[in-house]
Formats: sequence, structure tokens, C-alpha cells
Amino acid sequence: MGKVVRLYWGCMVAAALVVAWTQRWALPVIVALSVGVSAYVAFQVPVWCGAVNRDGQTYCRNNAYGLLMGCSKRQHRWQKIKMIVLRNKVGNVGRSVFPTAKDKFNGVLAVGGLLSAIAAVIVPVVTGG
Ligand SMILES: [Zn+2]
Repeated sequence: MGKVVRLYWGCMVAAALVVAWTQRWALPVIVALSVGVSAYVAFQVPVWCGAVNRDGQTYCRNNAYGLLMGCSKRQHRWQKIKMIVLRNKVGNVGRSVFPTAKDKFNGVLAVGGLLSAIAAVIVPVVTGG
């Protein structure tokens, strides 16, 4: 895959997901697209690392790929996963990982993908269809 495709396929999947919902595509397709969007944001979207630096005040600004991943410093990856999973006082994930509007958009994509996946599974159960 080319670099651009690697960086932005998630947006294309997200767009396809919107079409899938509005056009009432088959649910397995919607689930697959939803999972794709979530996986893209979790492991591939270009973001800032966002781990707390040694000084405890600033956030690491190295490039990272995926909201769940850190930069090349292994300790940052662990710290970031801990921040997200434990939601402890190490740092404010919202502020460190989503500092800009673009990054917030990525967060929305991730949550949207997850909600979409859940909805695709639950809606047929609730509606009996
Ligand atoms: Zn880092």
C-alpha cells in the first residue's frame, strides 16, 4: 500500500460506513466496516504520542501511529496504554492524545466506529429484525 493509502484508508472506511448505514447495507458488512474504523484509529491513525514526559508537565510530541500506540520509546507505549485502560492520574488522556481538533476528530471516529459496531449487533435484536 502507498503511504497515503496507509494513512487514510480509515477515513475511506469511515465514509463507506456512513454510506452503509444510510443505504441499509447487510449488517455483517456494517460490522466489518465498524471494526475496520475502530482498528484503524486504534493502531494506524497518525497521532502524537501523548505520553507524559519525565518532567510530569508536558506531553511527548513524537509521532505515533494509532491512539493505543506510543512513539518509539517503549516506556511511552506502556504508559499510554495504562493511561487509557486505568484512567489513572498519570495524565489526562483527553488532553494529551486529542490536543487538536484533528485529533479529536480521530477520537470521534474511534468512538463512532465502536458505537456503530455495537449498534449493528444490537439494533436487529431490539427491532426483532
Ligand atoms: Zn513518546
